[in-house]
Amino acid sequence: MKNVLTIAGSDSSGGAGIQADLKTFSAHGVFGMSVITAVTAQNTQGVFAVQDIDPDIIAKQIDAIFDDISVDAVKIGMVSQIPTIKIIAEKLREYAPEKLVVDPVMVSKSGYHLLNPDAELTLIQELLPLATVVTPNIPEAEVMSHRSIHTLEEMKDAAKAIFQMGAKNVLLKGGHLENDSTDILFTGKEFIPFSSARINTKNTHGTGCTLSSAIASNLARGMSIEQAIAQAKEYITIAIEHSLAIGKGVGPTHHFY
Ligand code: PLP
Repeated sequence: MKNVLTIAGSDSSGGAGIQADLKTFSAHGVFGMSVITAVTAQNTQGVFAVQDIDPDIIAKQIDAIFDDISVDAVKIGMVSQIPTIKIIAEKLREYAPEKLVVDPVMVSKSGYHLLNPDAELTLIQELLPLATVVTPNIPEAEVMSHRSIHTLEEMKDAAKAIFQMGAKNVLLKGGHLENDSTDILFTGKEFIPFSSARINTKNTHGTGCTLSSAIASNLARGMSIEQAIAQAKEYITIAIEHSLAIGKGVGPTHHFY
């Protein structure tokens, strides 16, 4: 059994964050562990409150895991604030996990800032150089690369710019563009497109969390970056196709075991 750690925020409604990550890990047959960075009060309609966890407790959670258990891959999600990012980066530099997926979570679909805008540069400077792969969506890539993105060509340029910030691979997710969605992987040498038909549903809460956790699971299982992303795309496509109309707002994706 491979062991995979998520360092991320809790979603009380179970559709995104730590809860989506752990469900995804289980569905991939890996053992899931969690370091909680923040507790959110949220449901399918929005995020209503956030309590950031004390950085010292974040450090102690990370120490407790790495002192005792071998970690085959790590995924980072919501990291809220500058001190949160700094302590995570310090600990990951110390423990140096071989496989690290960074999901640069910034704003929820409901419009809540899960990352303080003041902390955007810190996330880039501290976490990208440690990342095996970073997985921005279009709005996140626009913030990171300081440009607007409307076309596949502009996606490629932004992926190149983000690659230069230190991540070994960049997966720029194209779902926010119109028509069918194409994600672009930039490996530093080549661009590899991953295309899928758009699924017509409003229930897409937690898709980013689920995709990055599926990639981390697949890397832990020994797949190449390209294979890990291709299979994670298949997983998220099925999870969206069977997403759940629970709650009054944007329902969550469905995980199959
Ligand atoms: N809540 C937490 C804790 C998250 O980490 C994320 C996304 O990464 C979200 C909410 C946002 O979910 P969505 O934008 O898919 O609704």
